[in-house]
Amino acid sequence: MSCWLICIKVLLPKTKYKIYMDQVNFLRRHGLFDAKIPRYTSYPPANRFEPGVGQRVQSNWLGNVETSKPISTYVHIPFCRRLCWFCACRTQGTQTLKPVESYVDTLLTEIDLVTREHLPQKLSMARLHLGGGTPTLLNAKLMDRLLSHLYGAFDCSEGFEFSVEIDPTDASSDVLRELFRWKMARASVGVQDFEPKVQQAIGRCQSFEITRDIVRELRRGGVASLNIDLLYGLPFQSVESLIRTLDQVVSLGPDRLALYGYAHVPHVSKRQVMIATETLPSPERRFEMSQIAKERLIAFGYVPIGLDHFALPHDSLAKAARTNQMTRNFQGYTDDPCETLLGFGASAISKFQQGFVQNAVATSAYQQRIQSDGLAGHKGYRLSSEDVFVAALIDGIMCNGTIQTAAVLDRFSGSAEELNEITDDLLSVFPELLLADEQGLSLRLEMAAAARLISAHLDTSRQQDHIHSLAV
Ligand code: SF4
Repeated sequence: MSCWLICIKVLLPKTKYKIYMDQVNFLRRHGLFDAKIPRYTSYPPANRFEPGVGQRVQSNWLGNVETSKPISTYVHIPFCRRLCWFCACRTQGTQTLKPVESYVDTLLTEIDLVTREHLPQKLSMARLHLGGGTPTLLNAKLMDRLLSHLYGAFDCSEGFEFSVEIDPTDASSDVLRELFRWKMARASVGVQDFEPKVQQAIGRCQSFEITRDIVRELRRGGVASLNIDLLYGLPFQSVESLIRTLDQVVSLGPDRLALYGYAHVPHVSKRQVMIATETLPSPERRFEMSQIAKERLIAFGYVPIGLDHFALPHDSLAKAARTNQMTRNFQGYTDDPCETLLGFGASAISKFQQGFVQNAVATSAYQQRIQSDGLAGHKGYRLSSEDVFVAALIDGIMCNGTIQTAAVLDRFSGSAEELNEITDDLLSVFPELLLADEQGLSLRLEMAAAARLISAHLDTSRQQDHIHSLAV
């Protein structure tokens, strides 16, 4: 037995250690450690978007947005002062604000184009999220320009929430004051890991003290809900170093934590070639880290949510999870109830009842499209009724580990036969994972990590059935 296993054996109580080993063996057998399985933040995942769904379709779907319900908005800022090596976000480095100024001009034009020429009327927004990249790299004047434009283009619905991704190393007090003035209620702070050796290996140096000071400023400014993003599976990370980071992070009092597995895909994200593959923990070790971290956070009073989120019981995400009202969006788990999401900026994805549209990904291509008076949509996906059905099943598995028969039949009347077939198929492929009763199917609690396996199976088997039915 390796030192690592001795360590995890000591850290876990005896009964939990046995369950843990069963999980590892099962997941290894089913290839979870080798496979690249999507995170299913959308169904279908963005890699299945097609070029045929572009500006024309986007215009049509915008024109048919239901006006009686509030919408969500997302604005993407694809610039960072430094480019961290681990990061696969759509962003580019800049040392000056010049390209950012011209990008904000384009964003304002896009907001006008969408709201004045394509939407049927002025809509109310329930959520506004600024993500990136580094939204806080905007100076106070640019932030004010952007936000006053957005707040002018949409009404705010009752219970409106404004959230922003914050980089503690690049958030001036001036820009934070501007965000407070525009009623930022939620903030998401990137940490990843506090160990100096890990930070050096991922090209992101950010001290605990800088992070703590920003967190205090955010709380003083009125941020009621604070999320912190962490990663496991980073170079030189160990269980001990991850625990040290967790303890420091918890001392900052976040309401929510997202603990994602680092995905090493240097063929997709060129910056990651800076990270030596041999310094990364093995897939099994990554899994051990995620499980130990989970135990630690539960001991601190956090409720595990879905696959990789944690929240204090008072937090709205924990409440949504308790009442089966949680869902998924491109940022992960959410309590956002809106059916329509309008994405602004390069690579931003909009979600409509009919499907998804993604804006041109490269900043220059995005700006070119908007400046030539067109919408920026360049690819997307038109949902079939079968897709909507599969998406609902995957959502159930990813969010609360269940497929609830009554709820599915209530929403998709006439699907009883298909649902029976799916249930039988899942039970025969994953007998160790699932329990069946009169309510439907549920994932065994100790096997929550396998939700992605089940989702991937639902995804591929439904696609194959569809291809088969087209052929006969
Ligand atoms: S982690 Fe944040 S600051 Fe670093 S490159 Fe990614 S978006 Fe930019």
